[in-house]
Amino acid sequence: MLADKDRIFTNLYGFHDAGLAGARERGGWDGTKAFIDKGHDWIIDQVKDSGLRGRGGAGFPTGLKWSFMPKSDPRPSYLVINADESEPGSCKDREITRHDPHLLIEGALLASFAMRAHKCFIYFRGEYIRERERFQAAVDEAYEARLIGKNNIHGWDFDLVVHHGAGAYICGEETAMLESLEGKKGQPRLKPPFPAGCGLYGAPTTVNNVESIAVVPEILRRGATWFSSLGKPNNTGTKLFQISGHVERPCVVEEEMGIPLRELLEKHAGGVRGGWKNLKAVIPGGSSVPLVPADLCEELTMDFDALMKVKSGLGTAAVIVMDQSTDVIKAISRISYFYKHESCGQCTPCREGTGWMWRVMERLVKGEAQKREIDLLLDVTKQVEGHTICALGDAAAWPIQGLIRHFRHEIEARIDANQAAMSEAAE
Ligand code: SF4
Repeated sequence: MLADKDRIFTNLYGFHDAGLAGARERGGWDGTKAFIDKGHDWIIDQVKDSGLRGRGGAGFPTGLKWSFMPKSDPRPSYLVINADESEPGSCKDREITRHDPHLLIEGALLASFAMRAHKCFIYFRGEYIRERERFQAAVDEAYEARLIGKNNIHGWDFDLVVHHGAGAYICGEETAMLESLEGKKGQPRLKPPFPAGCGLYGAPTTVNNVESIAVVPEILRRGATWFSSLGKPNNTGTKLFQISGHVERPCVVEEEMGIPLRELLEKHAGGVRGGWKNLKAVIPGGSSVPLVPADLCEELTMDFDALMKVKSGLGTAAVIVMDQSTDVIKAISRISYFYKHESCGQCTPCREGTGWMWRVMERLVKGEAQKREIDLLLDVTKQVEGHTICALGDAAAWPIQGLIRHFRHEIEARIDANQAAMSEAAE
């Protein structure tokens, strides 16, 4: 269990002042100028050495991503921070933006400096109105105190623009976000080119998640070795876990990467409703990752590599707990509907496939299907997966694949029960 002294987000629950005075009391903005004086590459090397992997879902090494930005380019460079937290189950970035905003602003300055960017945009999801207001107030304070802005006390001109989306899930995809920021329809771009070569307004751009940026100041203050000593090799540091569903006390909590799932649920969320034996499955990383059935949860640790091994993913570490009372087919069908609704419609496998998969799922919920359709559905998920412009196609396919992998017996039993009921009615 993470010791209090190792916590990065010391105002996660908003018990203390989120403003500049409070942030300074908690150690924020301490030594920032000294880090900048050490140079762009020093910061990138520290982040690389810390082993930090992106906290938005993909888990790509953050320092490596920053190193893709050009060192001398006539075009301006940009950092874009993704606060479009729209994955069902995810609710961590909102806690950072409203309760610990100065960690994020300081991180934005340091990350932008490392990548030679003088301007950073933060893109809030449409529904995060109060969060955006709270964050904007903190940005205003930082300008007022000359922590950021032109001729600021840190010696690196830096502007931070707070931008509000309009509520489309797909704008959380990095290139759709750039399109949206440019004032266009938020649809993903074909890659390559990647944003580091041609991003916002055709200029070098890095898109990072809120948590990835907000942990940077503390990594520099406490040292890369401290961060990398937490967690497991290749899965280092602390992580914000979001626990929802059938637990006694749903919560967001900072814990060490690699904590056993059972310990996470029992220490922080009061355990599974009705006890551990009442667990049916968890979706460990937000709605797009395949579920993990209870029998694989016993020894499961919460990190990128362990979850890959059970054919799921850490994603955003949004843990959705389902107890034995859950109609797991219906739950996955509801998720299918979400992805069908949020498809931007650009590519055929996603536009047509998400609707097709959802309609079959709805029939499976009622048992009104033939058993051979289960394999047909699985085959269609494989045709959608990896054949689309962005990862929404995969996000729609994976939950269904997980369901069929682990709960085929339940789908078949429902079909049998429906057929038995129909024959009885016919007699
Ligand atoms: Fe749009 Fe879906 Fe294609 Fe992504 S996969 S670009 S959401 S149609």
